[in-house]
Amino acid sequence: MKEVTRMSALTLARKIKNRELSVEEVTEAQLQVIKEREPIYNSYITITENEAKEQAKAVQRQIDDGEFKNSPLAGVPVAIKDNICTKGVKTTCASKMLADFIPSYNATVTERLRDAGAILIGKVNLDEFAMGGTTKTSYFGPSKNPWNPDYTPGGSSGGSSAAVAAEEAFVSLGSDTGGSIRQPAAYCGLVGFKPTYGTVSRYGLIPLASSLDQIGPLGRNISDCVSVLEAISGYDPKDSTVVKQEKYAYSQALVDDVSNMRIGIPKLYLDEDLNEDIRSCFMGALKTFEDMGAKLEIFDINEIMYSLQAYYVISCAEASSNLSRYDGVRYGHRTADYDSLDELYKNSRGEGFGYEVKRRIMLGAYMISSGNYETYYNKARRIRSAISRAYEKAFDKYDVLLSPESLNTAPLLSSDSSQTHKKHKSEMLNCSVNLAGLPAVSIPCGKDRKGLPIGLQLIGNKFGEKNIIQAAYSFEQTKPYERPKVR
Ligand code: GLN
Repeated sequence: MKEVTRMSALTLARKIKNRELSVEEVTEAQLQVIKEREPIYNSYITITENEAKEQAKAVQRQIDDGEFKNSPLAGVPVAIKDNICTKGVKTTCASKMLADFIPSYNATVTERLRDAGAILIGKVNLDEFAMGGTTKTSYFGPSKNPWNPDYTPGGSSGGSSAAVAAEEAFVSLGSDTGGSIRQPAAYCGLVGFKPTYGTVSRYGLIPLASSLDQIGPLGRNISDCVSVLEAISGYDPKDSTVVKQEKYAYSQALVDDVSNMRIGIPKLYLDEDLNEDIRSCFMGALKTFEDMGAKLEIFDINEIMYSLQAYYVISCAEASSNLSRYDGVRYGHRTADYDSLDELYKNSRGEGFGYEVKRRIMLGAYMISSGNYETYYNKARRIRSAISRAYEKAFDKYDVLLSPESLNTAPLLSSDSSQTHKKHKSEMLNCSVNLAGLPAVSIPCGKDRKGLPIGLQLIGNKFGEKNIIQAAYSFEQTKPYERPKVR
């Protein structure tokens, strides 16, 4: 049965279509593997066993009736990050605040995956309200890296990456505000795709920072991610930031050809900071692209030096405003201990939020308070514009930009994850992409001496998904997927 859960999503869907496997037996096999491995990896917050079995029956019936002929996801078990609303299924944001919250509606992406015949197998772990990069701030305890459970699977979409790497799901959805899809994908040896801002509806995504958040897939190869992207992207009247454009068939870009593709490499990341293993992997990847006929060039884009500062001002400001809705009155945790309305607010929020969430709310509230708004928030917005313009200029010259996804591989779960210089620079790589609203994908490109995966980041121009898919696909042909030795 374990053989079933090892396949790629596309192979699985083909076998289901050809009647070699039934959706029910696939779902059963997936649930079995989850039960065996969850005690180690803790990828899931909620496993939707009964719903999945019921849905499996229904989808099989529909397939038998000739439906889903063109869906590459029909019958495929998927996991959804627990900050994306699922009707009738708990959506906790890994917070005590929402530990018992059951949405009465589906996020648009949830709805679209269902329409494609995918089977929702469960809700996966994250850092509380997607703030962090390790899952260590989750109210439900951290997830573990399937390559070595002593290490973090990354974050905030760490449950999304652990589940797919441990074969507890075929593909998953994550959300990326400042790298939260790409970094966990890199740490777990997966492909993680953050689409252009405005490509995928955020309706039903519990927001961290609305102007930066974007939902995207994690999978074991680029083709699986593309099939999810095709299913979830496109105009949605419920989210005014989704761009009205003709639906693009991303799978058309799965072409093994980078000849004459112009690739730029930001010089910043070739500096002395790079760890040896990551540097040699990255250099190897550049050589691969060169050998395949791409034109590579190193260039300067120093504006992104300030992206981390701008990112934290903007994301904390937006978070403090987004999270003001949790007041203990409407929904979410309500304290048992209050004598006045003021105390109800204070104690509910005090008990419901963890330390990191409180820290960011306070920071954000400070930065947008009158008197500080100009100094911090408006300055950050100007930096954001400068970064966008610098990227725009770069894309006049290049089709794709390449960088290491992170300047380190997964840290030990026991290590102190406070801000190191390297972590800062790594985050800079990630969050400048969100500030500019660009698409980017992380793909596996090797392993370090501890045997932990290393990721390569490909950044595209706005709505330039096609180029990064094509480059990622071409690279993937030279490096087939390597799986961790999960038990
Ligand atoms: N690590 C970043 C942060 O903590 C990214 C978060 C995200 O993308 N959700 O803000």
